[in-house]
Amino acid sequence: MVDVKTKLQEVFQLQKQQQHVVKMTSAEERIEKLQKLKVEIIAQAPSIMEALQQDLGKPAFEAASSEMLSVISEIDYFTANLKQWMEPHVVPARNEGAQTKIISEPKGQCLIYSAWNFPFMLLFLPLVPAIGAGNVCILKPSELAPATSAISAKIITKVFDESEVAILEGGVDVATLLLEQPFNHIFFTGSTHVGREIMQAAGKHLASVTLELGGKCPVIIDENVDLEKIVPRILSGKYTNAGQVCLAPDHVYVKEEQSQEFVRLVGEYIQRSYFENGELVKSDFSKIVNERNLNRLEGLLQDAVAKGATVHVGGEIEDGRMYPTVLTDVSVDAQIMEEEIFGPILPVLTYTSLDDVIDQVNARPKPLALYIFSEDQNMADLVLAKTSSGGAAVNDVIRHMLEPNLPFGGVNESGIGSYTGIFGFKEFSHERGVLYQAPVGTNPLETFAHAPYKGKLEMLMQRIK
Ligand code: NAD
Repeated sequence: MVDVKTKLQEVFQLQKQQQHVVKMTSAEERIEKLQKLKVEIIAQAPSIMEALQQDLGKPAFEAASSEMLSVISEIDYFTANLKQWMEPHVVPARNEGAQTKIISEPKGQCLIYSAWNFPFMLLFLPLVPAIGAGNVCILKPSELAPATSAISAKIITKVFDESEVAILEGGVDVATLLLEQPFNHIFFTGSTHVGREIMQAAGKHLASVTLELGGKCPVIIDENVDLEKIVPRILSGKYTNAGQVCLAPDHVYVKEEQSQEFVRLVGEYIQRSYFENGELVKSDFSKIVNERNLNRLEGLLQDAVAKGATVHVGGEIEDGRMYPTVLTDVSVDAQIMEEEIFGPILPVLTYTSLDDVIDQVNARPKPLALYIFSEDQNMADLVLAKTSSGGAAVNDVIRHMLEPNLPFGGVNESGIGSYTGIFGFKEFSHERGVLYQAPVGTNPLETFAHAPYKGKLEMLMQRIK
C-alpha cells in the first residue's frame, strides 16, 4: 500500500498539471460540477445525517438545516451568479487611449481544512467557491468526526477525479504533511492556536490564507428590550450543537436590575425547549464531541464555581452530554472568561454602564461576532462604532452568516479573509489587473517619460504641487 506521504505528493503533482485545464473552464462547466455535487449530496442525505448522529449525536433537524441546506443553498447561489462574477471588470484607465480590466483568475492549487463541529458544512461550503473560481483542491476533513469524514470521502471520490478535487483523511500527521506542499491558497477552519501554525507554514511558500477561527462572541442586551421575546433567539443560538458553534453567543451582558428576570426567563426557556418530564430530550441536544472536550468544559465549570460563580441552571453531565448550563456571578478572573467556551455553558454578566461593557469587549481579542439587542438603533450603532468584530447582528445571533450578500469571517485573532457568495469567489480568485495599451504613436505624451530627461523635470514639477 502506498504511504500517505507518497500518495499526497502524487495527488499534488497530478493537480499541478490539471490546474491549467481547470483554469480554462467556463462558468457553465464549473456549474455542471457543482450540480453533480449537489445531486450526490442529496442522494447521500440519509448517510450524512446518520454520520452526524454518530459523530456528534447531532439532531436530524440541525444536520439537515445547518449542515446540508447551507451547502445546497450556496451551490444554488453560485449557479445563479457565477457567470456574472467571472466577467472581467472594466475600470477607467489613466493611460490615454488605453483600456483597463480586472480579470479574476483562480488561485490555483488550494488546500481546505475543516473543523469537527459542522464537519460536513465546513468542508463543502468552501469547496463551492474553490470550484466556482476554477481551482483544483485537496480537502482535509476533521479526524474528530470520523463517520462524516468517511461519507465526505465517498461523495468526493464519486463526483470528482482526484486530479481536480481530492480528499485526504487523517489526523494532525496528515494535516502537517500537507503543509509541506507549496499550495497557492490555504483555507483553514479551526482554532486560533492552530491557525497561527497554518499561517506560519503558509509563509514558507508565501501562500495566501483564509483563516476562519473562533473567539468569545459577546451579547449585549439594552434595557429597553422585551426580554421574554429575545431570550428564545439568544438561547436557541447558544444551544444549537450544544454550544459547539464558532458563532454561538459566548457570554451575555444584561443590565444589573434586569438580570434576575433574564435568568428566570432563561431557566424557563431551557425547561420548555430541551426537557420533557424532567429529562433532557437527547434527540434534540448534541453530545460533546469527545472526552477531552467534555473534561475541558467540566474544568471550566469547576474553576468558575471555585472562583465564586453560581450554577443557576444545569451543570450535569450524562452520556457524553453536558446539560444546558447557566452561570451567574462569574469572576473576571475565571478561566471561562479567558478562553472560547465552545460548549453549552452561558455566563450571564451584569452591567450598570454601557461604557464598561465596551471596555471589556475591547480588552479581549476581536471576536468572530458581536451581538446587540436593542430597540434603539442609535445605541446599536454606537456599540458597533466603538468595537470591532468579524461580523455582527443586531437583535439576533448567528443568522448574519446566512445572508448571501454579507462576508462571513473574522478579524485578527478570530480570522483573516471571508467567504460565502461573491466573497468566497473573490477569496479563491486572484484579481489580476490588466492594461490594454493604446497603439504606439497614438498618445503624444508617451515619449515624455523616455530619456533623455533634459528640460522635462521643470514640466513634471508643475504637476507636483
Ligand atoms: P483545530 O484547530 O483543532 O482543527 C482544525 C483542523 O486543523 C482539523 O482538520 C485538524 O486535523 C487540523 N489540525 C490540527 N492540528 C494541526 C496542525 N498542527 N497543523 C495543521 N493542521 C492541524 O480546531 P477544531 O477543534 O476542529 O475546531 C474548533 C475551533 O474551530 C473553535 O475554535 C471554533 O471557534 C473554530 N471554528 C471556527 C469556524 C469559523 O467559521 N470561523 C467554524 C467552526 C469552528
